[in-house]
Amino acid sequence: MALPMRVSLLEGDITKVQVEAIVNAANTSLLGGGGVDGAIHRAAGPELLAECRTLGGCPTGEARITGGYRLPAKYIIHTAGPIWGGGDRGEPELLARCYRNSLALATKHQVRSIAFPAISCGIYGYPIQDACQIAVRETLAYLDTNELPERVTFVCFGSEIYDAYQAALNASL
Ligand code: ADP
Repeated sequence: MALPMRVSLLEGDITKVQVEAIVNAANTSLLGGGGVDGAIHRAAGPELLAECRTLGGCPTGEARITGGYRLPAKYIIHTAGPIWGGGDRGEPELLARCYRNSLALATKHQVRSIAFPAISCGIYGYPIQDACQIAVRETLAYLDTNELPERVTFVCFGSEIYDAYQAALNASL
């Protein structure tokens, strides 16, 4: 499949998206939080927290997989993004690793369709344009050398994120 056909943008709520796996912008405890993490735990139900408790956390930049429980998605891939601290604490590389490790976990579980929120762009304060450029660059590079996942959707919560993704995609496709 041609690369541009494999990436799309959607404005809305990631808990409602019909894909095999959704990515959660979690924190390193994996025990729930605010933002998209809270929305995912509310929609998936308490069984998700019970499974997360067995995982022993997730270092920043890494990813862990659980079931999707009451979500349409079969899997949730939890990744802990970096907290923005000015950009000289390794934030760009850590954010890039979130995308690479989440995609690698999806491939390992034969996931064909995956949706990402804008990791670190909420409570963690990452500058949106920079974060969207990293998300697009890492995803396109990964898809270039991997057949799975076939499709990646960037779910944008609000028009600022949507516009930033569109600009990043236009610049790189
Ligand atoms: P982080 O702590 O990594 O910054 P947040 O959950 O605060 O995580 O924010 C990450 C992104 O997810 C932000 O762009 C935020 O607007 C977005 N977001 C929040 N709720 C949802 C949701 N239900 N679906 C998709 N994106 C969401």
